[in-house]
Amino acid sequence: MIKFLILFVVGYLLYRSMKTWMFPDARQKKNVSNNAGGQIDDVMIKDPLCEAYFPQRNAVNLEINGNVYYFCSKACRDKFVARQSDET
Ligand SMILES: [Zn+2]
Repeated sequence: MIKFLILFVVGYLLYRSMKTWMFPDARQKKNVSNNAGGQIDDVMIKDPLCEAYFPQRNAVNLEINGNVYYFCSKACRDKFVARQSDET
């Protein structure tokens, strides 16, 4: 039974190497890149300050203590930061 297994493995490896010798082009696979751009970026999110909805790709990011906030503009972000620092 083990003999048969070894024979099978050796045979398989031989078959594989034979294949690569005979068809070297088969190993070169084309890099097909399907970049259907902008699918995830079109998520609408809410500005926590002015409560306006806007696409996430236009967002201004701000990270406070591991929480990420998204704002429609830098002005909103700055106001939010000012408000945060006022509270503490
Ligand atoms: Zn805003």
